Order: sequence, then C-alpha cells, then structure tokens
Amino acid sequence: MDNQEKLKLIEKATVDANLPLKETAKNLVFGKGNPDASIVFIGEAAGRNEDEQGFPFVGAAGKNLDKLLEKVGLSMEDVYIANILKYRPPENRNPSDEEIRAHTPWLLKQIEVIQPKVICSLGNYATKFFLAGTDTDGMKNQPGITTVHGKVRMIEINGLSVKLIPLFHPAAIIYNRSLLGEWEKDIEIVKKEILQNSLS
Ligand code: URA
Repeated sequence: MDNQEKLKLIEKATVDANLPLKETAKNLVFGKGNPDASIVFIGEAAGRNEDEQGFPFVGAAGKNLDKLLEKVGLSMEDVYIANILKYRPPENRNPSDEEIRAHTPWLLKQIEVIQPKVICSLGNYATKFFLAGTDTDGMKNQPGITTVHGKVRMIEINGLSVKLIPLFHPAAIIYNRSLLGEWEKDIEIVKKEILQNSLS
C-alpha cells in the first residue's frame, strides 16, 4: 500500500471517529499535498474557508503560506500541510486542551506515514505541541512562538528524528505587519534548510 492509500484509510477512520467539534463543523479538514513529502507544515485549525472546502490553508492565511513556499522554491507538490485540529472550532476560537488531546493522535498517524525530515510548525499551538514532545499537558510549559521562531532544532516524534522549524502563523503576518521582517528572515532559514537537506 502506498502512502496515498495509507493516508486515505486514516482519513476515513478520522471521519468515523467521534471527535469533539465534529458536530459544529461542516467538513473534516484532514490535510493536503504530497503524501511522500520530506517537509510538512502544521497549522492550528481550519477557519471558515477551510471548513467549507475541507482543505487546510485555502483562505487568506493560505495565500501567505503559498507565498512562503514560492519564495523557498517549493510547490504543493513538494510539501504536505495539516493542522493540529481536524475540525474548525466555532468562531475560530482557540483550541482547548481536550480537543488537542483528542485530535492530535490522528495528526501523529499522518506523520508516521509520511516520515518527514522537516516539520515547520506554524504559530503557538503547533510549535508548543512538538516542543512538548507531543504531550498536550506539557504545552503550557513551552516558550511561545515570539521566542522560538526561526530556531531550528531536532525533535523526536515516536522514534522518528525530525528537524523542527517554528514559524509565525501566516495569519499573524496579516494582523501584525510588524512581524513581516522577522517572517522574511525565517523564510531564509527555511530556504537554507531545504537546500542543505535537498528537500525540493
Ligand atoms: N489557519 C490554520 O492554522 N490552519 C488552516 O488550515 C487555516 C488557517
């Protein structure tokens, strides 16, 4: 069975699971991109557009992510994109611990299939989840994205060694233009890592 087929099976099982937020969401937002990608981007949760279409990062934040990919010489063919939560929280409120705990085993199954070399965590939730060693309870003790963005480190995910590159969330760049300079610098770091690891 190839990775595409394996991910399809996991997606089917995720839809069937009785996850919190399933009742209020329109669609499961499982993931998109290349199932064999060496680089995976992980966001927080679907917004309105993603909920309607069933794919991550198809709205305004997605446009920034597309620009980032273009700048580092990658396309959707080279990457896989998913979120911490598989369903949109009502009114885009922050994810609760309980939701993160219930949804992330499905994300970990996706990562186990894809076996990426690099994970770019987008924003606080994804970054803290990986820094905490995928333990939801440990997230509150982790430093925020303002402190750790652009700082590359090796992490272990169920025995898999992965390079983590924390980045500001692409939506934060829309709301806070003063982050643009830092964002551009972090893009250069991603580019360097991609060249070093021949990921494109
Ligand atoms: N923000 C996210 O974190 N994920 C999406 O899919 C869209 C916006």
